[in-house]
Amino acid sequence: MKTEEAFCISAGRLIDPLLRRDEEPVNLYVAEGKIVDPTNYPKDFPWTKIDAQGLIVLPGLIDMHVHLREPGESRKETIRTATMAAAAGGITTVVAMPNTIPPADHPDTIAWIRKKVDKEALVKVYPTGCITEERLGEKLAPFQSLIQAGAIALTDDGSCVQNARIMRRAMEYASVLGVPILDHCEDTALSDGGVMNEGLWSTLLGLPGWPSIAEELIVSRDILLCEKTGAKIHLQHLTTEGSIRLLRDAKKRGLPVSAEVCPHHIALTESALKEYDPRFKMNPPLRTQKDREALIEALVDGTVEVIASDHAPHALFEKEVEFEKAPFGVVGLETLVAVCLKELYYSKKMDLVDLFAKLTVGPSRVLGLEPPSLRYGSPADLILLDLNASWKVDSNAFFSKGKNTPFEGMNLKGKVVLTMIDGKIVWREKRVVGEQKTV
Ligand SMILES: [Zn+2]
Repeated sequence: MKTEEAFCISAGRLIDPLLRRDEEPVNLYVAEGKIVDPTNYPKDFPWTKIDAQGLIVLPGLIDMHVHLREPGESRKETIRTATMAAAAGGITTVVAMPNTIPPADHPDTIAWIRKKVDKEALVKVYPTGCITEERLGEKLAPFQSLIQAGAIALTDDGSCVQNARIMRRAMEYASVLGVPILDHCEDTALSDGGVMNEGLWSTLLGLPGWPSIAEELIVSRDILLCEKTGAKIHLQHLTTEGSIRLLRDAKKRGLPVSAEVCPHHIALTESALKEYDPRFKMNPPLRTQKDREALIEALVDGTVEVIASDHAPHALFEKEVEFEKAPFGVVGLETLVAVCLKELYYSKKMDLVDLFAKLTVGPSRVLGLEPPSLRYGSPADLILLDLNASWKVDSNAFFSKGKNTPFEGMNLKGKVVLTMIDGKIVWREKRVVGEQKTV
């Protein structure tokens, strides 16, 4: 037996979305990096006690849409800082987007990322590979070698493949290889120049619009291509009522389509832009109240199975410019859980089992990963959540180098106080968790 520390996480409220379990008080035992059955251990086994009374014990979360910014843009974020932010946010697995410099369109770049992750990452990281070379939408990237190098999915996130013929080939190729395509849906002929939702507010503010239909056209095209090719496609960061309607219909017809929504799109609307604050600028943009409600309804009824942050850090100086010139994107790893709790749980729309399924079982199914769980034998990737901890968002306290949060100053409830990966504590908040040796 290894000499690693073994833990007894005692008297917590255990929530396991895979098993649809919500029970308390439960003692959970961790040894050799896994969740274990204590009856297989001697009576006097030296468990280190972690008192979880009053806390929720959950499997570690998966965020399948994260920009780590390495290689190439370490001024915005690094693998180290992003994964520290993830750990503090309760996220034990992140999926890294390939729009780095250089982009992950070559197996060497995937290998470079994996090496850096081994050395510096605090949480588990799965890289993705590009759909097209340099994400230009013209020539397919070498899918097979990207996958062999460790890419878990293919995406040109941030740049939508405009040419339907290229997208069709990409789907045919991906379906043969059995990997999903993560699809950023944007018809750039329609969205070109747009910096916010096209509608009443863009007219009032005099800013160029990024219309809903630019998203919906590609959602519709790619559902048709999915039907034609049988490829597994995952629609990223959906924002419009029309996209949800198309998705719901595709699912009714049994197509292998899944989708994600982001916390900022379910928490905010386009009216947040009235002060021209670039912290509210992201792609796709904040939409209308009707759209926001449609996204929440789709989470509640199961049409959308994933919540992802689209964590997109930028350096402060890049965002401190006039609205139209600022880059798109907001950070989200450290506010993900609390914003979801606010919009879905505290607003009485979803229970905790269903909510956390969107951050565990949902993404694992899309990606073909082992579903996170607290059953015996599962890797001990878990978090302790203090549901009642109130806190105010202060980006200066973030581990992320990116301070571009749309939730600055917001009062939230719910904080992750301990994060464990493969049986090792990678992050803990000092003030809450007492720990003592039992002898
Ligand atoms: Zn995107």
